[in-house]
Amino acid sequence: MTIPDQTRAQAQDLLNFIDASPSPWHAVQSVVQRLLAQGYKELKEAERWNLMQGGRYFVVRGGASVIAFRLGQRALAETGFRMIGAHTDSPGLRLKTHTAQASDGVVRLGVEVYGGPILATFTDRDLSLAGRVNIRTADGFTTRLLKFDTPQVRLPNLAIHMNREVNEQGLKLNKQTELPLIFGMASDKQNAREQFLGHVASTLDVNIDDILTYELNVFDTQPGAFWGAEQEFIADSQLDNLASCHAALTAMLSSEDASATNICAFFDHEEVGSESATGAGGSFAQDVIKRIANALGLDAEAQHCMLAQSFFISADMAHAYHPNFPNAYEPSHRVMVNAGPVIKTNANQRYATNADTAARFMTLCEAAGVPVQHYTHRTDLGCGSTIGPIIASRLGIASVDVGCPMWAMHSLRESAGVMDHGHMIAAMQAAFRS
Ligand code: ZN
Repeated sequence: MTIPDQTRAQAQDLLNFIDASPSPWHAVQSVVQRLLAQGYKELKEAERWNLMQGGRYFVVRGGASVIAFRLGQRALAETGFRMIGAHTDSPGLRLKTHTAQASDGVVRLGVEVYGGPILATFTDRDLSLAGRVNIRTADGFTTRLLKFDTPQVRLPNLAIHMNREVNEQGLKLNKQTELPLIFGMASDKQNAREQFLGHVASTLDVNIDDILTYELNVFDTQPGAFWGAEQEFIADSQLDNLASCHAALTAMLSSEDASATNICAFFDHEEVGSESATGAGGSFAQDVIKRIANALGLDAEAQHCMLAQSFFISADMAHAYHPNFPNAYEPSHRVMVNAGPVIKTNANQRYATNADTAARFMTLCEAAGVPVQHYTHRTDLGCGSTIGPIIASRLGIASVDVGCPMWAMHSLRESAGVMDHGHMIAAMQAAFRS
C-alpha cells in the first residue's frame, strides 16, 4: 500500500487535533482556533446577525457544540446548503460533583459513566482530567478550560491472583464501587475535597473558594500513533467521532469557495441520546439555519425552497470487519479498514440513509476518485444510531449516514485506517463543491 504524503499528513493532523481535544469543550476550542486562523468570524446567539455575501462565520452553543458556515456564491434559495454533521463528545468517565473521597489511606475520585464506553479499557492507563471549571468573579463567574498534561488518576486492575477467571469471564467492573479512580494518598491535614480542589485551583491559579462548579472528563494521556507493517493504521482515543469532525472541518477549510452555502455542525451529547439544548436533538441546527436565511432576506417560501434543495451528510464512525470475530458481522456487508468511506443503511431508520441519498454519496465519492463501501448491521443484533435520523427529521432534508471504518469503537484506544481518513476528506470536499 502506497500512502501519499498528503494523506499521511492529514492523518498526523487528525492525531494532533485529537490530542489537543481531550474533552468536548476542548474539541470545540480546537475547531474554533482553526476557524479563526482562516478568517471565520464568531457570531453570538444573543446578538443580531448581519451577514456579508460570501462571509465565513461560526457560532458556539454551550461551549461543546459549534456550527461553522461559509455563504455560497449563488443564492441560498437556488442551491440550498450542504451540511456535514458530527459529534464532539466521546463515551467515558466524568467526575461526580462531590468527587473526592478519602478511605483506607487513599483519595479516590468518584465518576459517572458517560454514554457506553468499554470500561475495561480504562484500567491500567495513564489517565488524566480535562474539561471546564467555573470560577467566581466580581460580577458573576467565568468559565476556564482545564487540562492536566501529566497522568493524574488511575484505575488499577485487580491482580489475576484475586481474579482467576478474568480471562474466561472478561473484566467486569461494578460502576458504583469499582470505578472510582485513585488520585492520591489521604492526608491528615487536608480533607479529600480540599486536596482535589486545591490541585485544580493551583493549576488554574485561582482561589479554592472561588471554584463554583466543574465538568471534568477522564482522558488517556497517551498520544495518537501510527502502527502496522506500513504504518497504515492509526490509534488514538476519541476517533469516534473527532475523526469525522476533523474530516469535515478540513474539507471545508481546504476547498475553494463553493456555489452552495457550506455548513459544518458539530454537536455535544450524541453518546447520551442527543436530547439536550446543545445536542443534535435540540434546536441549534434549526436556529442557525433559520437565522442565516433570515439574515439573507429569504422569506418563508424561499426558506422552503432552500430546505428542499439541501443535503445533509451525517458523519460518524463505522464498524470495520475484525477477522478474529467473523460471526459479529453481516457476511455480505463486511467493511474493511483502508478500503474507503462507508455508507450506513438501516431499514428501521437507525440511519438516515435511503436509496436516493446513498446514490448521491456514491456519486460524490466517484467524483472525488475514492472507493466507497456499504454497511448493514446483523439482523439479529441491535443497530446503533447517530445524529443522522435526528437532524433529518428536525429539518426535513435529504440525509445520508456515512463514516470511516474503525476497530474497537468506544474503547479508550480505538484504531482506524490512514487511507480512509484521506478518502473521507476528499468525499466531503466533493460534497461541499456539489
Ligand atoms: Zn459516534
